[in-house]
Amino acid sequence: MDLVFKKLFKKGVSLKSTILLLFSTIGILLILVLAYQLLFYSKKLAISNINSRLDGIALNIQNSIKDVNNSSFSTVNTLALLNDQDRVKIYTNFLKSYPSLYAIYTGYEDNSFYEFINLRVDKNLISSYSAKDIDRWLLIKIDGKNSTKRELFFYDDDLNQTDYKIEPNSYLATKRPWFKDAKNSKEAIKTKPYTFSHIDSIGITYAKSIKNGKEVVAIDLLIADYLNSFKNHVDINKTELYLFDSDKLILSSLSKNSNSFNDFILNISDLKEFENTQIVEKDNKKFLIRIIKIDNNKQDNYLALIAEYKNILKPYNQEILWLLFVFIFTGLITIPLILYFSRVISKPIYSLVRQSKKIEKQDFNISKIDTSIQEISLLSSAFSNMSKSIYDYQTSLEEKILQRTKELYEKNEELERLSITDKLTGLYNRAKLDSVLNTEFEKAIRYNDIFSVIIMDIDFFKSVNDNFGHQIGDDVLKESAKILSSCIRTSDTLGRWGGEEFLIICPNSKQEDAIKLANRINIAIKQHTFSTYPKKVTMSLGVASYCSIFKKAEDIVASADIALYKAKQTGRDRVVGENDI
Ligand code: GH3
Ligand code: MG
Ligand code: MG
Repeated sequence: MDLVFKKLFKKGVSLKSTILLLFSTIGILLILVLAYQLLFYSKKLAISNINSRLDGIALNIQNSIKDVNNSSFSTVNTLALLNDQDRVKIYTNFLKSYPSLYAIYTGYEDNSFYEFINLRVDKNLISSYSAKDIDRWLLIKIDGKNSTKRELFFYDDDLNQTDYKIEPNSYLATKRPWFKDAKNSKEAIKTKPYTFSHIDSIGITYAKSIKNGKEVVAIDLLIADYLNSFKNHVDINKTELYLFDSDKLILSSLSKNSNSFNDFILNISDLKEFENTQIVEKDNKKFLIRIIKIDNNKQDNYLALIAEYKNILKPYNQEILWLLFVFIFTGLITIPLILYFSRVISKPIYSLVRQSKKIEKQDFNISKIDTSIQEISLLSSAFSNMSKSIYDYQTSLEEKILQRTKELYEKNEELERLSITDKLTGLYNRAKLDSVLNTEFEKAIRYNDIFSVIIMDIDFFKSVNDNFGHQIGDDVLKESAKILSSCIRTSDTLGRWGGEEFLIICPNSKQEDAIKLANRINIAIKQHTFSTYPKKVTMSLGVASYCSIFKKAEDIVASADIALYKAKQTGRDRVVGENDI
């Protein structure tokens, strides 16, 4: 996630944007989840709505089918008992009290037939029998002895005969299934639903044989209006109901676009598929379809409830839209809150960033940030304390470094001084003398300068040590050094050459000048009274000056050494110049 973020925002993204992004992502996710949930539940609700409606209707239809069935059986049984009485009156009374009865009839063994028809049951009846408006009942008689013709008697509502016709006939009662079935059964029977010949309706025939099968009484029941009683419960603008049998024969239907699903039902290969509500597409519309099996006295009937998905969902969708609107509206009014909180969080963090930049620039004047967020307040005071301690640490470090540098410098100076100082006398040592000698030699070559050196050696110094001890010898060396120091000019360099020998380098000095200095030294030494040594001390001195034939600095010292040697040879306590040799 972090990587994705980094890739997306190569330049980095501000805290404010992060918070806004976070809240909006959560918001959008919540809306999506809510919308999905609502759609999911609305679909579930729509399906359960269809299911519960169909369950209720199916139960009612099953009951009503049972009722009709029972009453049809009892009707046909009653007719069987009353068959020989005044049929016109009885039959018309029956037909009147059962509006769904189409006809009552009796078939005889010799193909005689006697049928009473309610002409008001179906409009087609009037035209198919060429009846008049006034005609209410029709009695059809076929005489078994002359079955090629039939007689038609028309009656009005009050059973006054209105017309009489004779027609050719091909109908043979004994050939009809209802006659055959009833004849073979002791009980009343009922046929499977079938389409009646004279009307465009489906019906069932209930029949019972009497007089040992010589006669069969029957009634025709229209089942087209089975579903009519449900008109009040089913909104046919939204829902269609189909009652059909196992041969997919539509027995009854409640449909706005007359039987638009007949073909669909006919083409269903497996009715079980629709036991659970299915969503089916037809004419670019989605429909919820459920088919339920109802038991109709050992014959399987099916009831299909079909509803347009959109219509079922409409009320739920409105609710969902309203909910989503409320949700989005709430989300929108929380934006100022999000902005406020992002400011509350990001402002002190920006202050922290500014303060860290100050520290980066070595400005440690950091004050605590005033914020109500506990964590940031803690961070800020930690930040302030940290900057203070960095400042203190840095200051003390600087002081320490300063102190140490000073000490180091002093130590270095001391070291340098020691490196060029003779420990006993405090004069320059041999190393320093060599360096000055080289410098002067170089200068003399380059600028054609003249310089001189005086080398001096205490006479019979060995006897000082021998007679008075080494300590006294040291005292003599130290005091002699002091005397020599007091004799020279500041431009002269005096040092201990080794043992009881000393050397003076006199820049810009000719030999005569150096001899003068040597003599002054000679006198000063021998006149001095030493503090610990009771005797007088003398010194022999050799002087030499720069000469262009010298190749190196040592050459001038060697020359002065020769002069010193000469001084020793000639009786000591004297000055000998190189020129005197
Ligand atoms: P000359 O007149 O020929 O110079 O005789 P001298 O005895 O002075 O010379 P020599 O070279 O024989 O003896 C020098 C002595 O100086 C020997 C040594 O013990 C002594 N000496 C050298 N350095 C020191 C020192 O630092 N302290 C003391 N006390 N004695 C030293
Ligand atoms: Mg010596
Ligand atoms: Mg000596």
